[in-house]
Amino acid sequence: MPQFETDLVIAGAGTAGLLAAVAARRLGFEVLVVERTAYAGGTTSGSRGAMWLPANDLAGKLGVNDSVPAALEYLNSVLGDTTDASTAARREGYITSAPKMVRWLLSSRLPLFVMRLPDYHPAEEGGLPQGRVISTHHSDPKSLGDNAARLRRAPARTARKLPPLGFLAPKASTTGTRGESLATELLRRACVNGVEIWFETAFAELTETAGRVTGVVVERGGERVQVVARKAVLLACGGFEASQTLREEHLPLPTNAAWSLNEALNDGSALDPAMALGADTAAMGNAWWAPVIVANGVPYRIDRARQAPHSVIVDHAGDRFFSEAAGPAILGRYLYDRTRGVRSVPSFLIMDNKHRSSYELGPWKAGSTPRKAIDDGDIVRAGTLDELAQQLGIDRAGLIGTVVRFNGFAHKGVDEDFRRGESDWDRFGLGGSKKKNYGLAKLDRSPYWAAKVYPGDTGTKGGLLIDADSRVLRADGSPIAGLYACPGAAASLMKGTSPGPGAGLGEALIAAYRAVLAIDGAQGE
Ligand SMILES: Cc1cc2nc3c(=O)[nH]c(=O)nc-3n(C[C@H](O)[C@H](O)[C@H](O)COP(=O)(O)OP(=O)(O)OC[C@H]3O[C@@H](n4cnc5c(N)ncnc54)[C@H](O)[C@@H]3O)c2cc1C
Repeated sequence: MPQFETDLVIAGAGTAGLLAAVAARRLGFEVLVVERTAYAGGTTSGSRGAMWLPANDLAGKLGVNDSVPAALEYLNSVLGDTTDASTAARREGYITSAPKMVRWLLSSRLPLFVMRLPDYHPAEEGGLPQGRVISTHHSDPKSLGDNAARLRRAPARTARKLPPLGFLAPKASTTGTRGESLATELLRRACVNGVEIWFETAFAELTETAGRVTGVVVERGGERVQVVARKAVLLACGGFEASQTLREEHLPLPTNAAWSLNEALNDGSALDPAMALGADTAAMGNAWWAPVIVANGVPYRIDRARQAPHSVIVDHAGDRFFSEAAGPAILGRYLYDRTRGVRSVPSFLIMDNKHRSSYELGPWKAGSTPRKAIDDGDIVRAGTLDELAQQLGIDRAGLIGTVVRFNGFAHKGVDEDFRRGESDWDRFGLGGSKKKNYGLAKLDRSPYWAAKVYPGDTGTKGGLLIDADSRVLRADGSPIAGLYACPGAAASLMKGTSPGPGAGLGEALIAAYRAVLAIDGAQGE
């Protein structure tokens, strides 16, 4: 078998892998990144690139009053009891490293900015209405020159402008860029600093000597290549969202890889090789849920449509069961929790014609619903709520009763059942003010519309058990020497919830950053 030798092997050229590669080069390591596809950037390129990184200097300069203790208090209050994957040390590691990593990225001239996004639970102890979510200013992939062809490009639907928020500080940005910009910036630094990247090369096996991981076997150009890693191996090759088999084995049912917003990149390839060396796994039943509708076989987020007025989400009994405006990570979970009592996968987004003529829904612009979408059953249209319920096969009296009750709440301006539209997070998508609850308005304009809502995801949360330094652990808690992983290859620390937008990318990047410092023996700077 051909052989190659380097200091650090990284599996996966998503942004976690790229960030680790850049950090390790800065410390003088020789680095090889192996990437199964022909492109770098991974899932992040197609994401919004929001990163939940509390107590960062950028927000401090805008006058946001945040601190490591406040952010840690907030994170603990959102996450509750510790677990194997969500230890006190990992939580503390995240929060203490966030400002340090941002400082390092800024000193490397990464063009970061604060987004006008609140925490998901701003009213919790230590929660904030803004300042913790940062992103990357637009960076033109063409600036990569020849390497531009190596960048995974964002699908057009991920770029959007965030709504103006009257109640947040005016200096934070409303511009929605793409994760593609972060990937561009990291790929540039990787190329300029001499990171070796092997594209179309799949990580397949780990090699071990006397209990220590000493390298990997990769599949490259139809042959297997042995790569010796003098210092360590870092698994940054994502979760198992694209594997229907692993989904059915571990996630709540029903589940479908076609509901995932990921582009079928990650199939859990970190798991078996590490488990063969005794690695433990955790959090396998959780994912970064994101409610979606499916149109033409493609999943679409419905964050704005479900926060918008003139709409409710109901189960098969025709009942509402949560605030439709809740954070996506939380809402997807509700669909499964509810389904234990009443069938709620799928649930139904019920809209009146004012909603359909005013708001975009999936691929359909406001006021425009193609005949084909109706014929295919991707969206259902009916003259009355009774007819709509019949077409959907859900409880007619239940649906009508729910809409009558909700219309009463709309009249009063208060959702007495689920407090929809009351928190800063709920109002964020609507550009609402504290004075008026824009999320509540009657459904009374025929025709009525409905689309099926599924628990989609932006990735899985389960994976290899790691410690605060991203070292992969055995079931007895001992680390496997030389083996590191970051979420999604590793288990997320976020349990079944999330503190705010960007926590998935945030924890993957921080785990990558901390892994490199640990491999170098540094205590953090
Ligand atoms: C539509 C969408 C929007 C999102 N928005 C956000 C957001 O705004 N904020 C946020 O925090 N998170 C968001 N996420 C999630 C976020 O993108 C991920 O958490 C993040 O990209 C994880 O980065 P990563 O580098 O760890 O993994 P990935 O970006 O998934 O990269 C993994 C890489 O490993 C490669 N790979 C897989 N298997 C192998 C193998 N065997 N050998 C070699 N290479 C392999 C893959 O091809 C891929 O390039 C979003 C996700 C989606 C789908």
